[in-house]
Amino acid sequence: MSQAVDIELERDRELRVTYDDGVVATFPILSLRRSCPCAGCRGRREQSLDPYPADSVSAVEAELHGNWGIAIRWSDGHDTGIYAWEHLRRWWDAHLE
Ligand SMILES: [Zn+2]
Repeated sequence: MSQAVDIELERDRELRVTYDDGVVATFPILSLRRSCPCAGCRGRREQSLDPYPADSVSAVEAELHGNWGIAIRWSDGHDTGIYAWEHLRRWWDAHLE
């Protein structure tokens, strides 16, 4: 189980997560928005529809969900995705190193 011990959000640039094993993972804001884990966005991706209509996006607000993850409200009004630390870590390990 990957726990986040430090979180830094640069609203128009990236989310930086430090995990309890010392790994620092950075996620570009645009990639985060495009990979929104909510059911609606997942469905759109499965149909190869762009889940993300704007040309640029930034994080307006973020709310921590305990030890579990972070919810982000985007400048395009979308706010139903909750990004689990565990999920982000798997994504980081698989694609971004
Ligand atoms: Zn979504």
